[in-house]
Amino acid sequence: MDIDGPAGLTALDERIAGCRRCPRLVAWREEVARTKRAGFADRDYWGRPVPGFGPADARLLIVGLAPAAHGGNRTGRMFTGDRSGDVLYAALHEVGLASQAGAVSVDDGLELYGVRVTSPVHCAPPANRPTPEERDACRPWLVSELELLRPTLRAVVVLGAFGWQATLPVLDAAGWSVPRPRPVFGHGARVTLGGGLRLFGCFHVSQRNTFTGRLTPAMLRDVLRDAAGAAGLPHQRQQ
Ligand code: SF4
Repeated sequence: MDIDGPAGLTALDERIAGCRRCPRLVAWREEVARTKRAGFADRDYWGRPVPGFGPADARLLIVGLAPAAHGGNRTGRMFTGDRSGDVLYAALHEVGLASQAGAVSVDDGLELYGVRVTSPVHCAPPANRPTPEERDACRPWLVSELELLRPTLRAVVVLGAFGWQATLPVLDAAGWSVPRPRPVFGHGARVTLGGGLRLFGCFHVSQRNTFTGRLTPAMLRDVLRDAAGAAGLPHQRQQ
């Protein structure tokens, strides 16, 4: 492990949490934190950018889209406190990459084993749709995160087409050359980048995908198992 890695990543996470670069997203995340959802009216919302979650020497990175208004934007941790996170962490737990299936708050004890979870946009956007300008404004944070993870990182799973399109140029900028023409997103897409980094496409764990069966728990587990294998992480094989 790079001795500067953990300190570097912790410092980066703190800087991300203080970012106010996108006026529309700053206004939205703070408005949501003030008005709240009825079921969380008695809770304090985080209402700030949500940094990545997981160890600084991760071998596998999972990239989503952006925090959910009443999930990560409420709890302050990626995919924590919403249905999408329930699906993702349950699958990670089943394949042996997370200490528990549930993710409800920053102090729930959840640990990830060799895996880090992040997103190309760190603030909750209205309707889950960041603008291209907001995506581009947030890009340097992901470049920095990838540069810090570079010594150990061996595989990346991208959840959904937005994350895929946002992440390819970042991987290029962080030093892994992406083939031309750029690989197309699809569930099950697999690409090996220059430098040997393995890239996997997976449908996003959004409720729209999981409630309709477009993404089943078994499909998600299969991608995570394959990516864990490519990353050289110990994991539970299919029973
Ligand atoms: S989306 Fe990214 S760049 Fe924009 S305010 Fe949030 S952390 Fe900063």
